[in-house]
Amino acid sequence: MQKKYDYLIVGSGLYGAVFAYEMNKAGKRCLVIDKRNHAGGNTYCENVDGINVHNYGAHIFHTNDEFIWKFVNRFVPFNRYTNSPLACYKGKMYNLPFNMNTFYQLWGVTTPTEALEKIREQTLPFTKQQPKNLEEQALMLLGDDIYSRLIKGYTEKQWGRPACELPASIIKRLPLRLTYDNNYFDDKYQGVPVGGYNALISGLLQGIELRINTDYFSHRSALHEVADKIVFTGSIDRFFDYRLGRLEYRSLRFEHERKQIKNFQGNAVINYTEREVPYTRIIEHKHFEFGDQPHTVITKEFPMNFKDEAEPYYPINDEKNNRLYKKYKSMADDVPNVIFGGRLGCYQYYDMHQVIGASLKAAALESFRHVY
Ligand SMILES: Cc1cc2nc3c(=O)[nH]c(=O)nc-3n(C[C@H](O)[C@H](O)[C@H](O)COP(=O)(O)OP(=O)(O)OC[C@H]3O[C@@H](n4cnc5c(N)ncnc54)[C@H](O)[C@@H]3O)c2cc1C
Repeated sequence: MQKKYDYLIVGSGLYGAVFAYEMNKAGKRCLVIDKRNHAGGNTYCENVDGINVHNYGAHIFHTNDEFIWKFVNRFVPFNRYTNSPLACYKGKMYNLPFNMNTFYQLWGVTTPTEALEKIREQTLPFTKQQPKNLEEQALMLLGDDIYSRLIKGYTEKQWGRPACELPASIIKRLPLRLTYDNNYFDDKYQGVPVGGYNALISGLLQGIELRINTDYFSHRSALHEVADKIVFTGSIDRFFDYRLGRLEYRSLRFEHERKQIKNFQGNAVINYTEREVPYTRIIEHKHFEFGDQPHTVITKEFPMNFKDEAEPYYPINDEKNNRLYKKYKSMADDVPNVIFGGRLGCYQYYDMHQVIGASLKAAALESFRHVY
């Protein structure tokens, strides 16, 4: 008997929404479900008195891929927002990524030659060692001033562990710029959708059936009856009922606050790099869209351990977890008619352009399978 849908898509984040869009365009019948009370996954924005608040952390789109840039701009125009975060350490401000402005702020040097000489002097005591952990790696690459003020506290908060217990591989290289350029990304294209990410997601999901507040695991057997194939973008270990053990994640807690002030911090993103400040950054959302409202909304971002009820935001791709993921992946390869995708389905930190690319690829492969 023919099932009602060709695809049940679990998760309305970018992976699920792009997949649904492509298959719908190809004439397939799709049902998208999400356990949250809205679509869009972590790109979801809540409009607070005209300000699009990035509910799950700052999202800045960037890519070198012209096709993906044109693809997203089909649904919503993107503005020319350029990510230029600042770091605040003990009340002093530093530009990021590390560039001539940062070196001037740290050491008063004004030329690339002076900056290189200073970095050489700073790293000299650490160059002979083979770095065994993140701390040694960062000291070897950048020296003590940059490490202790701008890396150590922030990284320890982010990972919830001392830097000397973190693997060196987390920072294989730290980009240094010998120009006065505060643009965080090197990519050719970057920006934020005019009107927020919801416009992109609703464009992708237009004409497609969406059920929010619907957890796949609460309706598992019934949902399997309605579609020929499933696209699963939730946690892969949960899909297999944690049979081989649990994958680890880092989670986050967000504190949003509306303030009756026009401009709170003068920049969209400020990182707080001291260990003693409990949050890692403050986001002031109106700056993503050059807002002119008389009020503002800020969000403090607190990293936290992942426990049962928390949201899994960042996969911890260390050796132990990657080994476990590989085992789940080989189980997944043996499940017929289920495609695992996205950040949680593939246990991989994907940026938005990467998740869109992966989803377009999976959809193209599906279309190819239907033809041949
Ligand atoms: C704090 C933070 C900041 C980021 N900043 C950037 C940035 O600046 N630039 C950038 O390019 N990328 C950024 N990213 C990455 C970006 O969020 C991801 O690339 C993208 O959102 C991944 O899309 P996805 O569809 O794989 O996952 P998600 O967006 O997580 O969507 C998965 C969806 O599946 C749903 N789901 C899960 N389990 C179930 C279930 N059992 N039943 C039903 N539904 C379920 C979830 O509710 C969710 O809506 C950031 C990520 C985080 C966490």
